[in-house]
Parts: sequence; C-alpha cells; structure tokens
Amino acid sequence: MKTWISTAVAFLWVGLFATSSFAGTPFDRMDANNDGKVTRSEYKGSKWIYVDTHNHLVGRRVRGRLNLEPAARIALENMDATGVKLNLILPMPQTVQQKDPLLAEDLFPVAREYPGRFAVLGGGGTLNVMIQQAIREGRVTKAMEKAFDARAEELVREGVVGFGEMATEHFSMSQDHPYETAPSDHPLFLRLADLAAKYGLPVDIHMEAIPEEMPMPSRFHSPPNPKTLKPNIAAFCRLLAHNRKAKILWVHLGWDNTGKRTVALTRKILAENPNLYMSIRIASGMRERKAAPRTFPLDREGRLKPQWLALFQEFPDRFVLGSDEIIKPSNDHPSAGSIRTTVGILEQLPEALRKQIGYQNTYHIYKLGK
Ligand SMILES: [Zn+2]
Repeated sequence: MKTWISTAVAFLWVGLFATSSFAGTPFDRMDANNDGKVTRSEYKGSKWIYVDTHNHLVGRRVRGRLNLEPAARIALENMDATGVKLNLILPMPQTVQQKDPLLAEDLFPVAREYPGRFAVLGGGGTLNVMIQQAIREGRVTKAMEKAFDARAEELVREGVVGFGEMATEHFSMSQDHPYETAPSDHPLFLRLADLAAKYGLPVDIHMEAIPEEMPMPSRFHSPPNPKTLKPNIAAFCRLLAHNRKAKILWVHLGWDNTGKRTVALTRKILAENPNLYMSIRIASGMRERKAAPRTFPLDREGRLKPQWLALFQEFPDRFVLGSDEIIKPSNDHPSAGSIRTTVGILEQLPEALRKQIGYQNTYHIYKLGK
C-alpha cells in the first residue's frame, strides 16, 4: 500500500509538472523507441493497472475528420499521472438534429493509435438519437426496430466494448447541451437490453435520480429543462428486470443533480437488481458546479464519507471508475481534472476494494479481452 501511494504521488507530481510534451513522464519512460506511442510490448511490466470506464474526447473537425489527437494526449498525461492503463471513451448521449454530432467511428482511430490505452463504446450518437426520434414521433415502427438492430450489430462488428452513452434523464447544463428524457422501459431501451445480453456487452446509462415527482432544481434553466421532473426509478427497475443477462451501468454515481441519488437509494436498487452496476464520478470543481453536496461522497476535507465506504464494501463487485472528463484541446472544460479526482478516490479504499473498483470489476463487465 505504502509503495503504491508513493508511486502514485510520484506519478501525480510528474503529471502536474508535465508540459504538453511527454518528457520525463511515465509515458516517456514506457515509450522505449520514443515514437510517441506505447506498444503492447513496451507496456508489459508497467505499473499502470486501472481502468477508467467513462471519458469523452472532443476536437475540431477538419474536412470531415475529427482531430482528437490533442485531447487524447491530454487524456494520456492524466492517465499516466494516475496509473490508469485503459480509458474507455464514448460519444455523449446526443439528440435529434444534434449540432456537431460525434460517433464511435470518430473515436476508433484513437484506440488504434494507442493500443491498450483506449477502447470505445458506441451508440450515444446513433442508438440514443433513434430513441429520441421514436419518442418525438410517439411510435416505434418495424423499420425503426430494424435500423436499431442493424446499428447495434454494426457497432459490435467494429469492436465496441459496450453501448453508450445512453440517456434517460439528462439535464441541460448550458446552451448546446441538450435536455433529454426517455422512459427507461421504452420499447427501444428494452430492445437494447436484449441486444446487450445477446452480444455480451454492457449499456452505459446517464440518468438523474427522480424517485418521485419534483420541481426542477432552480439552479437549472427551464426551458430547455422542464419545470417539473417525472419519476424515473420504477421504469429503470423495469428495464433491469426485463433481461437479467443484460449488464446495465448507471453512470456518474457521486455527481447528483437532484439531491436524490442517496446511499439508501443506491443500496436498495443494487440489492434488488443483480445486473446493475455503477460508475463512480468525483467531478473536478464539484462545488463550483453546484452539484448536491449532501449526496457527494466526499466531506469538506476531501475524505470519503463512512456511509459511502460501507456501501462500496457491501457491493464490492458492482462499482467501477467513470470520471466523465470532457477533454477539449484547450483543456478548459469545467470537468477538466476529473480523471485525477475520480481515480484519487482509490487511495482512500482498502487494498482489495481498490483493486476491484480500480480495475478487476471492469474486466467482468466490459468486453476488454482479459
Ligand atoms: Zn453522462
């Protein structure tokens, strides 16, 4: 444990003082032939072990091709600084007529460029949009079902390790950030659960917790957000019960915007649904972003609250890390730093739990190959 902490501190120190080049970083030491890439053989023997299951890369599109290289480099610096071996990147949950859509196909080149460091989830730019479209039309036609199945199959063929990011309740935080809502038991969500079971891939779902009807917290603008929020937990449980072979990830535990995603709710829903998993997000700048402090896992001093530790210990195989850092080339998104703050929570866990949440669980949930 002690060795690990000093290693982590050293990694962090190097990371903090690293410039945009990799000189002097663990990456630099790993990259034996100095070609800016770490190959599988170079990787062998590395101390990086953790898996971060949820991050977004953004960049500029030039002549149709999205340039994610600057964002990938920033991600790698943060991964190297925190001991993250593998980063799962995914398209955000997008809506109909989305401005600047981003698809899994935009992300695969990054995974190919840095083998073993990135893997891709897909569906946020397509499957989620199809669900939003079906809700707008108020129907699900045979043609929609066919297109939905075909896209899922295409993503599987292309090598996604899961489906996501999907949204059932997604608040708009700013202009160009859509409000989205969808019942978790919508026919296409149930269909996705069946597809997930069929292909052995999990589904990442973004959902603000709304156990009962409530007013929209006043810090969010309505519109585009609604004034009243409709309950969504019962429908989510119907999705979970629909196909127990489908692994469902309820993402962003620790980033609660309704104040209702409590330890008690989390415990109850995990106990009742063996196919439910959650990814933990300790967002950088949490307080500035006004998330509900009562349901934040850390106290004012940054210590993990005992009731959260007890929850993790009660369900040690159901949690993974998912920082949800939106990495821009300018590295100035409000979520910048979330990989470090999220992975940093591992330091506060007993060793066995640290390994489970840090990486072991991810290999049981996602299709990571080993
Ligand atoms: Zn999300």
